[in-house]
Amino acid sequence: MHRSHRVAGALVGSAVGDALGAPFEFGPAGQFTARFPVPARGSWTEMCGGGSLGWEPGEFTDDTQLALLVAASLVERGGLDEADLFDRFVRWAAADPPDVGSQTRAVLTSGPPWDVAAAEHFGSTGRAAGNGSLMRTTPAAIWFSRFGTETTMDAARRLSALTHGDPAAGEGCAIFHELMRVALDGEDPLAAVPSALDLVADEHRDRWAAVLAEDWTPADATESNGAVWPTLGSAVWALRHGNDFAEVMRLVIDLGGDTDTVACVAGGLAGAVFGMGGIPSRWASVVHGRVPGQGDKMWRVADLQQLATALDGKPLQSYDPGVIPRIGPTEVLPGIWAANLDGARYSETDFAVISLCRLGEPFPHELQRMAYIADNDHNSDLDVVLEDVLDDMAALRAEGHRLLVHCHGGASRTGLVLRAWLMRTDGMSADEATTHVAERWPHLGLWNVSFTDALERMRLPRD
Ligand SMILES: [Mg+2]
Repeated sequence: MHRSHRVAGALVGSAVGDALGAPFEFGPAGQFTARFPVPARGSWTEMCGGGSLGWEPGEFTDDTQLALLVAASLVERGGLDEADLFDRFVRWAAADPPDVGSQTRAVLTSGPPWDVAAAEHFGSTGRAAGNGSLMRTTPAAIWFSRFGTETTMDAARRLSALTHGDPAAGEGCAIFHELMRVALDGEDPLAAVPSALDLVADEHRDRWAAVLAEDWTPADATESNGAVWPTLGSAVWALRHGNDFAEVMRLVIDLGGDTDTVACVAGGLAGAVFGMGGIPSRWASVVHGRVPGQGDKMWRVADLQQLATALDGKPLQSYDPGVIPRIGPTEVLPGIWAANLDGARYSETDFAVISLCRLGEPFPHELQRMAYIADNDHNSDLDVVLEDVLDDMAALRAEGHRLLVHCHGGASRTGLVLRAWLMRTDGMSADEATTHVAERWPHLGLWNVSFTDALERMRLPRD
């Protein structure tokens, strides 16, 4: 898998976990599965919003708000500038965010400068091992992953210490950073747990080794999962036992308690492991939020993907699709319409839109799914993405929606999905589906051999 898919997956995955877990925060165990016994792929999904703080469906919370401040400081200052970041945190806390952890609030509103505030608070209370520094550290784990184990673990400790004076929290962040570095490199973060533990300060190692042991389960936790140990322990446990991103999310949110934060931490790691394409598009498409004290900017998945690129030190490709002659929408298959980018953008807003390319600004349509497919050979998780798209299409069709499938030109990616849909629903072979679509959609483009290969791999319809 291309590294860019992992980097985007990490940042988007953490925000998705945060938003997905938020409605269940402080609830009992098992609530997620009780409410969603099977995947909810129609117009209503597991991104249900609500909870005690009344989140919008897909809205991220303080975990991601603070993570975005970390990211902005790193990118704008070109590295770790603790005074700058602390200042951003303080301004955020002063802007009355809807949710803020007690530890973080106490330190950020206490008054002393960045290099003493957290230590003073810890000195007077002796309590500072919450998960509030771990939950915001994914952007830093991406940024510092380029500089090797020692640098990233050291940075993690310094970032944590801005609000969490207990070094135990910093050691947890350091382990998380190292596991993230390994995952972004395409290796197995679970296999890296022992070597990461070797680098933990002696007095903290045993306690961390206990919650990261292969046979540890959340039932073994000795604190609530608002504490840093069971938060990372549960995230790693879910990564051990979940087969894909969605399963990791289900496992951690079903634990109850501090669901947004545990899912945020697990989502960062799982996103790095399974990649951007492994995150169900029904979740990534709706994740959004603002950062209090940082102006009115609305953050959405495309912004997070851009930011992830910047955090990985890659040049930002500015994306302006410009204005292109509209093609479609045209009904190509029963209930399934096709278009190019602007044909879809300016279509009737009651279409349920399946977007297969970058968009620039999101569409005005109420229902829009954005799948992560590039028109090249680098979609290592193409089969997973394709299945996700087809499953969503089936659910939305079953609800009676008209579906509008589009990509930039309406040719290659659109053709892939139309053909796959026919194979799935009508049992056609890849060749038959290609002929059938070509007769009805002259814009079909067949140049991407990896797409044709994916169709050949597709299983025949499941009964
Ligand atoms: Mg939160």
